[in-house]
Amino acid sequence: MRVALLSDIHANLPALEAVLDALVPYDAVWQLGDCVGYGPEPDAVVERLRSEGAIGIRGNHEAAALGQIDVAWFNEDARTAIAWTAAHLSAATRAWLAALPERRVEGGFTLVHGSPRDPTWEYVHSAPVARANLSVLTTSHALLGHTHEPRVFREDDGRVETLAPGHDSVLELDARRALINPGSVGQPRDGDPRASAALLDTEARTVRWVRVPYPIGEVQARMRQTGLPARLIERLDAGL
Ligand code: ZN
Repeated sequence: MRVALLSDIHANLPALEAVLDALVPYDAVWQLGDCVGYGPEPDAVVERLRSEGAIGIRGNHEAAALGQIDVAWFNEDARTAIAWTAAHLSAATRAWLAALPERRVEGGFTLVHGSPRDPTWEYVHSAPVARANLSVLTTSHALLGHTHEPRVFREDDGRVETLAPGHDSVLELDARRALINPGSVGQPRDGDPRASAALLDTEARTVRWVRVPYPIGEVQARMRQTGLPARLIERLDAGL
């Protein structure tokens, strides 16, 4: 089975469409949270995911937009975007988001947004944080997002190695435990503004990353119309 791995789409429909086009052919879509928040088209993004039969989990932005967690933990721009998102979700979108679990195990992979030990909030940015999470992982591999950076943290002979996959990088899955982040579709933060995603091949046991250009100006124009914060609009150009 070929699985499109998508995380942190953040209501960015042109970026979602671009990565799905780039990952064809795929058999399934797994999303790793933060489908909404920051971007201008939450309903259209969720509608596309529903039409793809996507499965997945909820992120901190879904939880906040649905009023399940306190928005005091977010910075000011994020809070503004969450308030806008909460006010603009259709009933169908809310129902779809509300049904997402905090974690799930699918085909031997753990799916979480942040980390295995703290799925909603923890950022796996560093080898020490990765090591602590690898030690509580109940499957060989976890698929996660939240940092908006394509990364792999893999146990190797007692050490944790960090990989930063770029376009067309391929990871061969083996017995070594690993935390695997496809990067962010809708708001990359590793200095490359192109949308990031990955393709998991469960038979070949590989993960391949893609970086895909998309019409950033279109999304920025839609964000300006909605009145979303200028800093959220500008950061898309820089990929930061
Ligand atoms: Zn996010």
